[in-house]
Amino acid sequence: MTLDSFFARHKKLTRSLKKFILDYEKELSLDVFEAFLETLSEELKSAHMELQKVPAGPPRAKKLHELVENEIAQGANIETSCKKGCSACCHMEVEITNYEAEVLGNLVRSDHSIERSRLQQQSERTLQDPLWREGVRNLSNRCVFLNDEGACSIYENRPVMCRRHSVTSPAKNCETSDGKIVIRYFPKVDLLISAANEDTQVEIGPLAKMLEMRLR
Ligand code: SF4
Repeated sequence: MTLDSFFARHKKLTRSLKKFILDYEKELSLDVFEAFLETLSEELKSAHMELQKVPAGPPRAKKLHELVENEIAQGANIETSCKKGCSACCHMEVEITNYEAEVLGNLVRSDHSIERSRLQQQSERTLQDPLWREGVRNLSNRCVFLNDEGACSIYENRPVMCRRHSVTSPAKNCETSDGKIVIRYFPKVDLLISAANEDTQVEIGPLAKMLEMRLR
């Protein structure tokens, strides 16, 4: 399979999976690379079909979370610097799907309290608003689900983008805008997310905006 036909068939790849593929292109001979694309395409199809067996909405979001957690568990031997209470990454713009927005919306509608004024304020930002670059230095960037102990208050239900994020570089590097950050990368996790995004009913957007719309 050629690179063009692969990209034409799989239009919802995550940015990092695309980069991973393009890096491989430089490393491999053409025939090995095209065989690799064929395998990747089959894996994307198979992951997509596995997810489609589960009803759309929260159950499908949770199935993706389960598959992603299984994959991350395979890399448990790779030590990360992420610890409970270091929450710089919870002051960044996080994208979620409409299925995940439904999960979070159901929690808030039941009994999970959040600061609605901050949610409203964050939801009015444009995509990649420059304020997000101020990270932890700007308190208005705090995710509405981050509790006073600096931990995620919906840990079991956190979106897939929060699950995939972990770093091997020092945690303090996450707190500055110029700190070098090394992310622990799992290509298979990106493959699962990309396969999930091929679902025609999936919409993706910033957490605050998606949740605020859900709560209206
Ligand atoms: S949902 Fe939880 S893990 Fe994700 S950014 Fe918010 S507080 Fe952090």
